[in-house]
Amino acid sequence: MVTRKEKRELEKDTNYFFEFVKIKEHFCRNLDRKLKRVKDPRHQSYVTYGTDLLLLMIIVKNASNCKSMREMSHRLNRDECIENIKKVLRLESLDELPNYDTINDFLMKVSPEELEHIRTYIIQELLKKRSLERYRIKGGYWGVIVDGTGLFSFKEEHCDHCLRRVYTDEETGDKQTVYMHHVLEAKLVVGDMVLSIGSEFIENESKDVSKQDCELKAFYRLVEKLKETFKRLPICILGDSLYACEGVFHLCEQYRWKYILRFKEGRIQSLGDEFQAQKKLEQSTMKNVFWANDLAYQARTVNMLEGTVEEQEKQKQFLFLTNIRVNERNAKALVSAGRHRWHIENQGFNHQKNHRYHIEHANSHDYQAMKNHYLLTQITDILMQLYEKGLDVLKRIRKSKKEISSNLLEAIRTRLLTDEDISHLKKPIQVRLT
Ligand SMILES: [Zn+2]
Repeated sequence: MVTRKEKRELEKDTNYFFEFVKIKEHFCRNLDRKLKRVKDPRHQSYVTYGTDLLLLMIIVKNASNCKSMREMSHRLNRDECIENIKKVLRLESLDELPNYDTINDFLMKVSPEELEHIRTYIIQELLKKRSLERYRIKGGYWGVIVDGTGLFSFKEEHCDHCLRRVYTDEETGDKQTVYMHHVLEAKLVVGDMVLSIGSEFIENESKDVSKQDCELKAFYRLVEKLKETFKRLPICILGDSLYACEGVFHLCEQYRWKYILRFKEGRIQSLGDEFQAQKKLEQSTMKNVFWANDLAYQARTVNMLEGTVEEQEKQKQFLFLTNIRVNERNAKALVSAGRHRWHIENQGFNHQKNHRYHIEHANSHDYQAMKNHYLLTQITDILMQLYEKGLDVLKRIRKSKKEISSNLLEAIRTRLLTDEDISHLKKPIQVRLT
């Protein structure tokens, strides 16, 4: 722990915004160029602001935890801030920042694919870094968490793609329809960091579909995109019991991926029974971890593994289904891979909803803009995790996410970057992610 005096000393010379930019440059040197080269669907004769500026504004909005577009405009509207943004983007001139309508108009038009490409660029730069190798699961696989969550819900129909759910009032019998948008995320697990590598929106193709879209259908679309984007990345899917099904087993086999899935006995009864029978036979050993390899299921075999984990002073049991062969040496590691990842995953959405980014707040009513805002949040979240895990001061002084964001906002609004600062950006720095 640092004393309050040491804390003041440490913080006195720290320009948080500059540090953020330095870390961003360190990990993804060409990000600004990528932002600038986004395919711009606007009518070019009316264009005042470049795509790099419009997109960076939203990244800054998210990073500094502004709740709404209006709040962003209000907070960033300062000479120092305008000058800082101009400097980091190396713009020739910038008198005013674009207002939020201009930004939202752009986000209504730009293709979400363009933003997905930017995220892919960042992830690929990170994967090139040797330092992340140690976070692979045994056997060289990268853990990828897959999980869905609700983003928006409305009492009235919002667009043609809304998911619908009918609720019946128990007392009156009245029926009410709720209109929703959900998303399925794929997140790469890198130590304590969970970095978004794919997002698939769960949405109906049109109003009159006979069967609505669902998480599992979205999963098949998501993994197809992942395979196309990260062709040779050895992936180990970490998912809940919903994914313990033939379609997923087959797909992982085809892609040569691994999986560790939570298993609930009712999901595939025959497997649950077989596992319990084997366990009963060996009950006398009273191990903390129990596994059974080569359980027959349809045309293949799968492995099951059960571990007891202590959590908040309670013993909890977790059951997993995997196509990794379990043995004495890897059993514990597999349980903790499955379990530990679970924990951070739940935190991930919770943080994005309640602590920073407010992903349930719609920044625009337009569906395409909503998607683009969501993707920009995921991009920001990657940058923020690198910043938080990479900046020494933040490793030494414990701060809440809110505090980290407000420090960043304060710095961009009040601390003017010098030309010397900007020329420093070209120099390589050392960043250790811990
Ligand atoms: Zn909708």
